[in-house]
Amino acid sequence: MTAGPILSPPVLIGLGSNLGDRRAALEGAIAALAGTPGILVRKVSTFHETDPVGGPPGQGRYLNAAAVLETSLDPFALLKVLQGIEARFGRVRTVRWGERTVDLDLLLFGDRIIDTPELVVPHPRYSVRRFVLEPLAEVAPEAVDPVRNRTIRQLLVELNRESS
Ligand code: ATP
Ligand code: CA
Ligand code: CA
Repeated sequence: MTAGPILSPPVLIGLGSNLGDRRAALEGAIAALAGTPGILVRKVSTFHETDPVGGPPGQGRYLNAAAVLETSLDPFALLKVLQGIEARFGRVRTVRWGERTVDLDLLLFGDRIIDTPELVVPHPRYSVRRFVLEPLAEVAPEAVDPVRNRTIRQLLVELNRESS
């Protein structure tokens, strides 16, 4: 089996769902990514059930996952693809950090550092979120955050140390 051409350094995505059939939504989003020209899905984590963090009270529990992609798209085009998939799964954007059928966040794009109004990479908040780091550590423990100069494994160890 050949793994196919290398399109890019590892691109890490976080997925979450807390409305409706959460498993079907995550699986559907992953299938949609895999079906997008210029995107290869290299790895997908297990699905983690987590309590909502922040946002309004009364939300249901989340199902979270992470994926490693390679892509020939640039980061902005990839963000558009992620937003298109969210829209296709009927995400209703109401309040920030509110409920959603599917949330797709671009966490790392190799060692790229981007800071624009529409896109910030590495994702500004992922590194202190256990619900992001735990699935991510399954699929990309050695990936390096170019801003924090830490691997995903180190970020998770540091988070566990701080909160214990
Ligand atoms: P959080 O970003 O804290 O996880 P959220 O996922 O609920 O919160 P959204 O409402 O999904 O936030 O996104 C708000 C905006 O964030 C989007 O319109 C998008 O342009 C912007 N954004 C900036 N950086 C990123 C990124 N790395 N991945 C995804 N969206 C991003
Ligand atoms: Ca998010
Ligand atoms: Ca998001």
